Amino acid sequence: MADGCRRGYDVNGATPQGPMLSKRACTGMRADGSPCSAPPGPGGLCFWHDSARREEMLEAARKGGSRKVLDLPVGAPLGAEESRGILAAVLAALLAGALDAGTARAAAYILQVERRIAEGDVLERRVAALEELLMRDRSVSWPQ
Ligand SMILES: [Zn+2]
Repeated sequence: MADGCRRGYDVNGATPQGPMLSKRACTGMRADGSPCSAPPGPGGLCFWHDSARREEMLEAARKGGSRKVLDLPVGAPLGAEESRGILAAVLAALLAGALDAGTARAAAYILQVERRIAEGDVLERRVAALEELLMRDRSVSWPQ
């Protein structure tokens, strides 16, 4: 076998097969029949589509207060523009009948929470910058 044929194989030999090689998205389907685009796990399915991992999650939920740590995927924080883009896409999908109202509501709520966290983060940094300035300038004091 020529060396060139080995390209794409990882060091553990656990090489994804078929379409998963080129597609870095979950191979599962959404409830509406569209392909899932969530990042895939080792089996090629995302956290929510991998039945073994979902069973693990449900089992932990049943036990309640179980100390077992779930390996939830961590996404990158959304920028304001990105959030608005997602919101626009959700609205368009809702109006086109491709997305149910419950899912759209949940998505909008999550984006709202995300914005609140981002706004809190900005405020926190501004307050820290102001405190830094006050520490340097001793002639200014905090209002009592
Ligand atoms: Zn999926």
